[in-house]
Amino acid sequence: MDTAIEQEGPVLDATEVDVVVVGAGPVGLYAAYYAGFRGLRVAIVDPLPQVGGQVTALYPEKLIHDVAGFRSVRGQDLIDKLLDQASQWGPSLALGSPAESLAGVEELVLTLATGKAWRTRGVILAAGLGSVSPKPLPAARGFTGSGLVHFVPSLDAFTDQDVVVVGGGDSAVDWALAAAPRANSVTLVHRRRGFRAHRASLDELDRTNIRQLLEAEVVDIHGAAAVQEVSVRTAPAGKLERVSCGLLVAALGFNTALGPIATWGLDMSGRHVAVDANMQSSRPRVYAAGDVSEYAGKVRLISVGFGEAAIAVNHLAHDLDPTAGIFPGHSTNNEGG
Ligand SMILES: Cc1cc2nc3c(=O)[nH]c(=O)nc-3n(C[C@H](O)[C@H](O)[C@H](O)COP(=O)(O)OP(=O)(O)OC[C@H]3O[C@@H](n4cnc5c(N)ncnc54)[C@H](O)[C@@H]3O)c2cc1C
Repeated sequence: MDTAIEQEGPVLDATEVDVVVVGAGPVGLYAAYYAGFRGLRVAIVDPLPQVGGQVTALYPEKLIHDVAGFRSVRGQDLIDKLLDQASQWGPSLALGSPAESLAGVEELVLTLATGKAWRTRGVILAAGLGSVSPKPLPAARGFTGSGLVHFVPSLDAFTDQDVVVVGGGDSAVDWALAAAPRANSVTLVHRRRGFRAHRASLDELDRTNIRQLLEAEVVDIHGAAAVQEVSVRTAPAGKLERVSCGLLVAALGFNTALGPIATWGLDMSGRHVAVDANMQSSRPRVYAAGDVSEYAGKVRLISVGFGEAAIAVNHLAHDLDPTAGIFPGHSTNNEGG
């Protein structure tokens, strides 16, 4: 790929850019593309070792059905296409360290936790939910062996396994459904009486041979080097059962923390950055798009974030050069566009 982007780690030496995009999730990648399209020099920063935000970190193998232009698209395939699209303008990418501070007024200085700093004329915050860490399975406390995961990086992991999925939301049901055609057996364990997943997924669940244990909890993991069995206690009788298990998927949701950005003096709305209709934060030339932003009527979806990124970049481009219109013209008018 003809690009300055490397995913191996921090590679950025340039210290002066027009815009730093904070966060390399789907919205940050699209913002980087769009800023390049507007002729801006772009750096993208992210603490994770890879681009893709929640999509790559949490559900790279899942099919996304509500991104415009695709009946469905595998999460990682969408990220690969976004990265490819952004890369045509040669943005710089610094992975492995969070943006820690933002100083200055006319000329902004954005500094990473590593101390690396950029002088920049604008910032697009696309930091999503901040850092995302899986909620731990209480029964796994002290377990250090393999076979316990919180998300499944490749569907191959299910092949010929006895899979136990713990949880009652969309993720748990989706993982169980994805495992069903590949696994030796699938057991879905949820401590409540009903699942909280989409109706269509639950209908599909009932058409499979996935074993559903409701009002049930995994209370113990057996196996030293790797999970071999789990003990499941079912209410109300408290019946204890050992279930064969080679792969235990704890899909209990995630804890999130916005981190340093919350201390930058921006107007916040709960854990999100408050923005106006231009996607501008309370600070000049600092915009926010995607999950991190908040305004009346906000909907946290990738497709919405793409639109917000375009709004943010077009207004920032106009801030930086008032002779440049907010409306960029149609991309179809660009040679080769
Ligand atoms: C299991 C699951 C399924 C989903 N399914 C769908 C779906 O079907 N359709 C849909 O539209 N949406 C779906 N979503 C939601 C979707 O993933 C999010 O709306 C989307 O990822 C938001 O993109 P983003 O770029 O704003 O944020 P994120 O994807 O969260 O990316 C933000 C990036 O910012 C980085 N970051 C955080 N703090 C800093 C910092 N201080 N400095 C630098 N970088 C920072 C993070 O490391 C991360 O890489 C799903 C979410 C989950 C968890």
